[in-house]
Amino acid sequence: MYVDTHTHIYLKDFDDDRKQIINECKKLGVTKLLLPNIDSNSMEDVIKISNEFKGMCFPMVGLHPCSVKQNYNEELSFIKPYIKSCNPIAIGEIGIDLYWDKSTLDIQKKAFIKQVNWALEFELPIVIHARESYNEIFEILDFLNTSKLKGVFHCFSSTIEDANRILKYGGFKLGIGGVVTFKNSGIDKVVEQIEIENIILETDAPYLSPAPFRGKRNKSSYIPLIANKLSDIYKVSPEEIGKITSKNATEIFNI
Ligand SMILES: [Zn+2]
Repeated sequence: MYVDTHTHIYLKDFDDDRKQIINECKKLGVTKLLLPNIDSNSMEDVIKISNEFKGMCFPMVGLHPCSVKQNYNEELSFIKPYIKSCNPIAIGEIGIDLYWDKSTLDIQKKAFIKQVNWALEFELPIVIHARESYNEIFEILDFLNTSKLKGVFHCFSSTIEDANRILKYGGFKLGIGGVVTFKNSGIDKVVEQIEIENIILETDAPYLSPAPFRGKRNKSSYIPLIANKLSDIYKVSPEEIGKITSKNATEIFNI
């Protein structure tokens, strides 16, 4: 059994074959899909799909760092009430992205801090998007981390030093997806130095398809391809990878 801890299956990219993908997932043992929100436009779709596939799809509430613009306070005010109304499993996805836009760093930081505080207030885990921003995120977590804060660095793609720094916070796991299957990504060399108890599986569908589908639309039913790669790295069966990473996901998300 597998959990896809990060999929945007509610997006229009899946309108034509969402049900079919859900059935593929069931056949392959991908039994739970966690849905990070992006912004005010996607919130209703996250909830709609979570309701349509109850028990399999679970909603998150949050504002994605790439959607943090000058009107971010309005966005946050729109999104926050959903924490009470839709019973989300996490605050996500939130964080800082300096790959697409460095000019919004200041407001990205403010939006991130605000949402980490929501997580502390409502005792929910956080799903962190970090792109070229590990140091900026560490600076904030060094200040805000408590024994109660937990979550995941989704699509982890940094050094073993950064991995160890994340794990030292105490409540965080690393989300590993399709990138680990790419030739020369180097993430496999980092992953092999990390205990499997610290890892959860994710696709980030429709983005970052694993090999041999790199560059094509990603989907949650590709999770076994990622588990197979981890099976090579850790020298345990894909079933065991599924069992351990699902337990890790349950620990963080309480699903
Ligand atoms: Zn995402």
